[in-house]
Amino acid sequence: MKSEIISVGTELLLGEIVDTNAAFLAQQLSLLGIDLYWISQVGDNRARLLEVLRRAWGRSDLIVVTGGLGPTDDDLTREAISELVGEEMAVDPELEKWVRGSFSRMGLNMPLSNLKQASLVPSARSVSNPFGTAPGWWLEKDGRTLVAMPGVPREMHRMWNDQVLPRLRPHTGVAVLITRTLKIMGKGESEVEELLHEFVNSSNPTLATYAKDDGIHVRMAAKATTREEAAGMIGELEEKAWAILGTFIYGTDDESLATVVGRLMREMGLTLATMESCTGGHLANALTDVPGSSAFFKGGLVAYASEAKTAWGVAQAVLDEYGQVSPQMASAMARAARERLGADVGVGITGVAGPGEAEGQPAGTMHIAIEDRGRERVSSSVYPRGRLDVKRVATLRALNLVRRFLLGLP
Ligand code: ATP
Ligand code: MG
Repeated sequence: MKSEIISVGTELLLGEIVDTNAAFLAQQLSLLGIDLYWISQVGDNRARLLEVLRRAWGRSDLIVVTGGLGPTDDDLTREAISELVGEEMAVDPELEKWVRGSFSRMGLNMPLSNLKQASLVPSARSVSNPFGTAPGWWLEKDGRTLVAMPGVPREMHRMWNDQVLPRLRPHTGVAVLITRTLKIMGKGESEVEELLHEFVNSSNPTLATYAKDDGIHVRMAAKATTREEAAGMIGELEEKAWAILGTFIYGTDDESLATVVGRLMREMGLTLATMESCTGGHLANALTDVPGSSAFFKGGLVAYASEAKTAWGVAQAVLDEYGQVSPQMASAMARAARERLGADVGVGITGVAGPGEAEGQPAGTMHIAIEDRGRERVSSSVYPRGRLDVKRVATLRALNLVRRFLLGLP
């Protein structure tokens, strides 16, 4: 079944609201295993709405429309659908009773304009709306199904869950869709896609890569009639992806890098302390997002000025010889944090958040060190973006460095 979503409302085209309805519906359709091929946004304009509806009617089996069901003159979804299917709208007496009733229950008189919310065309049935005055439409004709729901997200969600989902399920044919996401740090999206290219064009299971804030996501999805069958398909594909990407995969599904680091620290019975300069405490913040982080995280020092670094134990000689932005400074910070806070492992981050350069090094420079008395590793790189991106990426790279260090990976 091919589906498409149409969001109606001039506010969308003015950029005043974000189309969260389409995002919600897209996720819902994906969970049902219904292919979604198009999402359109169109203003409150009858001719253009009709044009979008005609195109959808010509290429999709299921069309889900939200918005434009209100009582005012700029709410034109019913009128456009009626023209699309060539059927006259008429007030449905049962529906009129319900709309009038919903006004009198609120102690209000129904304005005449609301009468159009009680209208139907012959091929449509109404879909009730317990949270509002606009009933939806469920229309079936010529092998196509069109569902129209109100634009107000709360009303639409309720209508979708209570009324539309149960009517759609028997049409889907697919019993289960299982998805799995692998999260990757240390490789770019194009490299990941190249490595997995043999699976990217497969239609079931599907595999797609996405560049996200916390690395590259590889999303796999399998459709089958039983859960076991779908799980088997995903399992097979996942095994192949692991064989190719190996230790670049830091976690799956809802796992974050900080969660993974927290789990490893706890499993190994180790404690961690940090000293941060350019990230201003972001790393400590990420680590404390993990429930139970007090079991492994001793604390984080934010040493922004050079005096703060030396006050917490960085040797003046390191500062004099190598400056604040150097690999040597990062490792001195890691050691000082570990010693000051009595932890097993220390992490130090120094760099240039930008926008200007510092100590002759460009914005985006980051030096990250980890050490545990015996071993030490320092990673230096440049990520020339805005300040917040530099802080975010330095934090992720630090977490990934900890992960690889703990696992004994290069
Ligand atoms: P009502 O029956 O309440 O008049 P309607 O069906 O006419 O609703 P609209 O007037 O198009 O719906 O939208 C009402 C409100 O719902 C908008 O102001 C907006 O806040 C929200 N809304 C509409 N469409 C969307 C959308 N696609 N995504 C998120 N919010 C939306
Ligand atoms: Mg509207």
